[in-house]
Amino acid sequence: MKTDELRQAYLKFFESRGHKILPSASLIPAGDPTLLLTAAGMVPFKPYFLGTAKPDHLRATTCQKCVRTGDIENVGRTTRHATFFEMLGNFSFGDYFKADAIAWGWEFVTRVLGFSPEQLWITIYLDDDEAFEIWNKTVGVPADRIVRKGKKDNFWEIGVGPCGPCSEIHVDRGTSVGCGSADCGLDCDCGRFIEIWNLVFIQFHRDEQGNYTPLEHKGIDTGMGLERVAAMLQDVPTIFDTDETRVIRNMAAELGGVAYGEGGLPDMAVRVITDHVRASVFMVGDGVLPTNEGRGYVLRRLLRRAARYGKLIGIEGVFLPKVAGAVIDVMHSTYLELADDRERILRTIQLEEERFLVALDQGSAVLESVIARVLSEGGSCVPGADAFRLYDTFGFPFELTVEIAGERGLTVDQIGFDKAMEAQRERARAARGDNAYLDETSERYHAAIGEATTEFVGYDRLAEQARVIAVIGADGAAAEALCQGEQGEIVLDRTPFYAVSGGQQADTGVIAAVEGGREGDGSAGANAKAHAHAKADAHVGTDAHAHAHAHAGAVAQVVGASKPLGDAVVHAVRVTRGRLAVGDVVTASVDEARRAAIRRNHTATHLLHAALRHVLGSHVQQAGSHVDDERLRFDFSHFEAVGPEQLAAVERLANEWTLANVPVDVNLVTLDEAHRMGAMALFDEKYGSVVRVVRVGDVSLELCGGTHVARTGDIGMIKIVSEGGIAAGVRRIEAVTGLGALDFVTRTRRVLHEAADILKTSEDSLAARIDRLVQDLHDQEREVHRLTQRLAAGSVDSIVAAREMVGDIAVVAAPVEAPDAEGLRNLADQIRDRLGSGIVLLGAVTGDKLGFVACVTRDLVERGYNAGAIVKEAARAAGGGGGGRPDMAQAGGRDVSKLDTALAAGVDAVRARQAAQSM
Ligand code: ATP
Ligand code: MG
Repeated sequence: MKTDELRQAYLKFFESRGHKILPSASLIPAGDPTLLLTAAGMVPFKPYFLGTAKPDHLRATTCQKCVRTGDIENVGRTTRHATFFEMLGNFSFGDYFKADAIAWGWEFVTRVLGFSPEQLWITIYLDDDEAFEIWNKTVGVPADRIVRKGKKDNFWEIGVGPCGPCSEIHVDRGTSVGCGSADCGLDCDCGRFIEIWNLVFIQFHRDEQGNYTPLEHKGIDTGMGLERVAAMLQDVPTIFDTDETRVIRNMAAELGGVAYGEGGLPDMAVRVITDHVRASVFMVGDGVLPTNEGRGYVLRRLLRRAARYGKLIGIEGVFLPKVAGAVIDVMHSTYLELADDRERILRTIQLEEERFLVALDQGSAVLESVIARVLSEGGSCVPGADAFRLYDTFGFPFELTVEIAGERGLTVDQIGFDKAMEAQRERARAARGDNAYLDETSERYHAAIGEATTEFVGYDRLAEQARVIAVIGADGAAAEALCQGEQGEIVLDRTPFYAVSGGQQADTGVIAAVEGGREGDGSAGANAKAHAHAKADAHVGTDAHAHAHAHAGAVAQVVGASKPLGDAVVHAVRVTRGRLAVGDVVTASVDEARRAAIRRNHTATHLLHAALRHVLGSHVQQAGSHVDDERLRFDFSHFEAVGPEQLAAVERLANEWTLANVPVDVNLVTLDEAHRMGAMALFDEKYGSVVRVVRVGDVSLELCGGTHVARTGDIGMIKIVSEGGIAAGVRRIEAVTGLGALDFVTRTRRVLHEAADILKTSEDSLAARIDRLVQDLHDQEREVHRLTQRLAAGSVDSIVAAREMVGDIAVVAAPVEAPDAEGLRNLADQIRDRLGSGIVLLGAVTGDKLGFVACVTRDLVERGYNAGAIVKEAARAAGGGGGGRPDMAQAGGRDVSKLDTALAAGVDAVRARQAAQSM
């Protein structure tokens, strides 16, 4: 069975049992900052199991792309681990449970895939008797092939939350495979017994104290490794030999000139390259770029490790893009997006490999010298600080340092490395000054506001009556109320305030208490009613009037808004008057002018995106954006600087669309529909859900949750203010719109005007004038240099005249003026030539240091006088050092006040030498 037939067979099998087939989600987990990468089929469904979101279908089945960095060391070492693999899965969200999951699993494996029951082994959790009964009685697996295992292997949990036992299906590939040892069994790593499928029965809730309580709605999560099963069905030894992986493997082997299958390092290298490049292609495809943090670092590490293994088997130059091309060739019929994105993916990989080759050259040399040092000192461990310097300065992955050091019999001090890394993070954090701990933050919010949710009404309205449903004090804990002068956070049941997301910054404005608008305690009916009618409705709150304890006139300034948990809008506020409490009815009003400016910038972002694709090509993809009321920032993939003409063309096109004053339409559609319409998707959209499509005439179509102008003419003007690179293959433009564009132009004109004024020229001739001035300045600098030299030369006569005699030797020891060491040397040369026979010692102050030069004529060198020795004595007297040849030497000193003493010391050295000789 071909790999793709297996994919299809699995999905069809579960579709015929009521499952909805969903496409693979992105490798970047949607809206889940706690996860680095999608590592299992259940990841996109986590909110359904946690109960924080409701699924559209109670049964789903997927073939999910997965990356497991934890398995990186296993790649090539075992026959069943890759960092990238696909996981087939079927899921029940409170629908069917253990009996069906097991029966269908068995049916699929034996009937559809044709494994014989005698080959199959089952593991279950220690005390899961229910699973045992089903496997043994209903399915008919003999009791001696059902193995009970402990928590580590057969219980799935992630801290507090839903969890449960699991049950795995293993295949015995027979005695012809593996170690052949008599006690080979399920736990042996040799490759004879392979786990193919894990069925997780989500049936408990675990609390903080570690108590397990049964769930009312139980769930199923299963995962079957596509490559492992394909390998067995195709009767090939490993997951690197299937119809799909083999093509990539062959390309890697060919490039390396390796006859694959002979074992040893070459085979290992080919498998590492095959896997890591496959993983990288999919990661780049899903929007990850190589960086030094988080996912970006995982990608960098994979690419660099693959490149290094290439070097180990003698591949020269850049080769990863070729392997990546093979990955796309075999995988694009299943993952269509790879073909569309081919050029960008290959370029990204190529760029990173090029960078790495440079880093490898530089870093290897540094590492070699570190290793040599450690070995010569008799050590056995590379210090963490050195490993960190390699990582930080040369982009040398830590793991690579460990590998290379390991090949030379050395270990690396991981603790020291971690410390250095943490110290750097600390510095970065201090510099950023924000809350870097997203997961801690969401935990805190969860404790403070529980399950509160907010209805967002701000697409249509900018002021809204609402009810305060939660208050958080400045300490981050739930509070009853906020009083005048206090800062804190407020959650409303509905709000017009846009919470920061998708790059668009939050609205600001005012929350003000409605007079008499407080609900009585315990009148749940009134609560519900006030809630239901809380529109721009004068009667709001009248039900509750009887119970009112109004805080008339309470006002809070809203300085920000966010959705830390996904559903509730949390307004960051400062109360400027009165007291705002839970239950109060309020009017929430957005700052309209600011919102209008944000709208202009956001729609302009879409126009610039479209214009960039027009001018530069369709490889341009959004890599990030930031939209506030003052400016917009748009990051996109592109491999070289955008030239001034191209930038002008982009700006012009965007402004032409603005002038055309085309309407901006917003529609809610399903994601499938959106794709059919050709909308540009962002990376982390959830499947199955309804998405918002923003269409600007026939110019742009994007999935976007932000706020936009009604017609492009509302934007006024779009002015790009900067363009630059921010990472390998990623550029950033910044722009302003509306009155902001006018302000920008006015400001620039003023600067030009002032500059022209100072230089007494017109704005048009400014550049030419500055050019000339710079030229003049250079000329004058040269002239100054020439004159100083001349001046120094002029003093030669007087210096020579002031020579003293030490015995029969003419000695010149003088403080002089010289621009630099070279000037000093020239001067000394001239004086020596004039002396014919003699010794010259000159000292000059340059900046806050002293420079010395000594010359000894040849005849005196032969008599044993040494310029190096003389200059050394002089320099030592001024707190410095130096030396050189017997006929010419230079030195430096630190203490400028010791110039005369130093020169005297030099002369003394000559005297001492003479005295020594005459003895
Ligand atoms: P193993 O013990 O072999 O590492 P696991 O217990 O980590 O497997 P699960 O987390 O239960 O595996 O994942 C479900 C299925 O996904 C496994 O049964 C296996 O078929 C497949 N799988 C897991 N990890 C990998 C991997 N690194 N490469 C390929 N397939 C994998
Ligand atoms: Mg594992």
